[in-house]
Amino acid sequence: MIAASFWQTHAGQAVSHPPLRGSENSEFAIVGAGIAGLSLALQLAEAGREVVVVEESVPGAGALGASAGIVAPQLVRTTPRRVLSRLGRDVGGGWLRLIGESGGHLFGLIREHGIECDARPHGFVAPARGADALRRLTTVVDEWRPFREDLTILDAADVANLTGTQGYAAGILDASGGGIDPVRLAHGLADRLVAAGGRLFHHSPATALTREQDAWCLKTKDGSVRAARVVLCANGGNHRLHPLLRETVLPMRIHELVTHPLSAAMRAAVLPHGQALTDLEHDIFSIRWIAGDRLLTYYPVAAHTSAAGIEAAVNKRLHDMLRYHEPFEIAHLWEGVAWMNSSLLPRVVRLDERLLAVQACNGRGIATNAIVGREVARMLLAPTSYNPQIALEKPRRVRGFALARHLPTVLLHGARTMARWSRR
Ligand SMILES: Cc1cc2nc3c(=O)[nH]c(=O)nc-3n(C[C@H](O)[C@H](O)[C@H](O)COP(=O)(O)OP(=O)(O)OC[C@H]3O[C@@H](n4cnc5c(N)ncnc54)[C@H](O)[C@@H]3O)c2cc1C
Repeated sequence: MIAASFWQTHAGQAVSHPPLRGSENSEFAIVGAGIAGLSLALQLAEAGREVVVVEESVPGAGALGASAGIVAPQLVRTTPRRVLSRLGRDVGGGWLRLIGESGGHLFGLIREHGIECDARPHGFVAPARGADALRRLTTVVDEWRPFREDLTILDAADVANLTGTQGYAAGILDASGGGIDPVRLAHGLADRLVAAGGRLFHHSPATALTREQDAWCLKTKDGSVRAARVVLCANGGNHRLHPLLRETVLPMRIHELVTHPLSAAMRAAVLPHGQALTDLEHDIFSIRWIAGDRLLTYYPVAAHTSAAGIEAAVNKRLHDMLRYHEPFEIAHLWEGVAWMNSSLLPRVVRLDERLLAVQACNGRGIATNAIVGREVARMLLAPTSYNPQIALEKPRRVRGFALARHLPTVLLHGARTMARWSRR
C-alpha cells in the first residue's frame, strides 16, 4: 500500500515555508492547512487581518490530499427533510443553503484566484438502485428546491447514457459539482494566503494550547504563537489539542486508486461529459476522470489482499458496473483517513469565546469545509452583525467510543463483502 496519494506524489513541491521558531503574536492563529484552515485563513488575510497558520507537515498533507478530489455539494446518508426536522428551519435551513452553495463557492474561489488545480466544474452524479429509487430521489430533489435550483432528476436511461454505468434505476445530477486536484488546490490556496499577508509555517505541529488572560497560547514543536483567537482546523488532529474534543469524531479508512492512462474508447464510453460520480448505495461505487486520461475509483481493500488480487477485484467491479470496460492496470493505490461525526453534517464547535474548532465532515468535506471556512471568517470578522448561517455547537462525545471508532471502517468494508455474497 502506498502511503502518499497520487496527488501528493505527482503535484510537485509546495513553496517551502520554514517551521515556526521562537514566539510570535497574531490576532488569529489557525491549526492545520487543509481546506478548512486555508479557506478561513485566506478570508482573514484578504480582510487585512493578522493571521498565522501552523501546519504539522505541508498544505494538503491530511484528508484533503488523500481525497478523491470530488466536489460533491450534497448531504451524506441523510435528506433535507431529516436535516430540517432535526435542526429546525433556522439552523437546518442554514446548513442546506450553505451546502447547496458550496460547489459554486469552491469553483468560484479557484477561478477568482486563478488556481491551477485541474478544476473540472462539470457536475456530480449520485445514482441509486432499486425499484423505488426514482420516487425516492425525486422526493429528495423536491426537498432541496427551496434552497437550490441546480439539481436534475435522472431516470435509468438518463443515468446510463450520461455515465456509461449499468444497473442504476435513477440518479441526481448536481450541476454545481465536479472534481479538482486537491493537493494543487492546497498549494494554490497556500500561495494566495501568503501573498495576502498571512504567515504560514510548515512542519510545525501544534502540541499544546494554554489559555492566557485575553488570548490563547499555541505551542508548536519549535515555537509558540499567542493569538487573540484560535481556530482548530486539524481535522483528525483536533482531538489531541483540547480535552473536550477527545472521543468526538470517528476515523474511517478509505482506499482510492488511479489507473494507468486508458484508451480513447474507454474515455468516450465512461462519463464522457466529465462529471464525477459517487452512488448512494452502501456498497459505494465512485469514479471520475483525472488528468492524463486516468480513472480514479474507490475500492475497499482488505489488508491481506495481494496487488494482483486487488487489480483483479477492481477490474471485475468496473466490468460489472460499466457498459464498456477494458482491463486496466492500477498505477497508484493509497489509503486515507476521513473523520466522521454522528450528525452527518460538519460541526463548528465553540470551546470558549476565543477558541473554535471545525470538526469532521463525513468523507465529503472538500466543498463543505471550504464554505465553512468562509463562514467562520465572516463570523470572526463581524461578530455582532454576522447573520448566522452556521450554528456554533458544544463538543459532543461519541457514546461507546471504544467500539464506535471501528464502526465506519467496518461498515464501509462490510458493505462490499455483503454485496459480493448477495450476488453469488
Ligand atoms: C481517502 C479519502 C477520500 C475522500 N474523498 C473525498 C472526495 O472525493 N470529496 C470530498 O468532498 N471529500 C472527500 N474526503 C473527505 C475530505 O478529504 C475531508 O472532509 C476534508 O479534506 C477535510 O478538510 P479539513 O481541512 O478539515 O482537514 P484536512 O484536509 O485533514 O486538513 C487538516 C490539516 O491539519 C494538519 N494537522 C493535523 N494535526 C495538526 C497539528 N497538531 N498541528 C498542525 N497541523 C495539524 C494536517 O496535516 C492537515 O494538513 C475524502 C477523505 C479521504 C480520507
